[in-house]
Amino acid sequence: MSILKVAKIGHPILLKKCSEIKEFSTNSLKKIIYDMSETMIDYKGIGLAAPQVHISKRIIIFRNPDVPESNKIQITPLINPTFEPLSDDKEDGWEGCLSIPGMQGLVRRYKKISYLGFDLDGNKIENTVDGLHARVIQHEIDHLNGKLYIERLADKKAFGFENEILEFWKNEKQSK
Ligand code: ZN
Repeated sequence: MSILKVAKIGHPILLKKCSEIKEFSTNSLKKIIYDMSETMIDYKGIGLAAPQVHISKRIIIFRNPDVPESNKIQITPLINPTFEPLSDDKEDGWEGCLSIPGMQGLVRRYKKISYLGFDLDGNKIENTVDGLHARVIQHEIDHLNGKLYIERLADKKAFGFENEILEFWKNEKQSK
């Protein structure tokens, strides 16, 4: 296994629509998923999409955010994923991205979604989720369509360096 180099904003691979996986259970697919998992753990991310490691294919991996961090890390790979919003309800939440290091933005996403994808062997994975889990899935699927979260800011001003956001946005909101 190896830790892969993460593409940062400005790299054209992050703006490309990725191609579907047609063959499952292959060694090359297995290797991509192992390497992506190792990379995500090393960078302490909760989700990673293949184009972020210079692979323009429809593969995402994520940690289930509902599992406490102290537990063993569970990583779910999802191949050719799609999602449907279950209502028009949206909510705003702060997001970061390994391809936009050190920055955070307030992003508007669907609250509740159902998603569909396949595991390494082509078995169907279906789930209905909300909150952070729904947010991570939407963020990662966006990557497969060449979209970064900065295109979905709830407020154009709500974007900046983590430490400034923490001081001037998050603390301010908490004190209200
Ligand atoms: Zn991202």
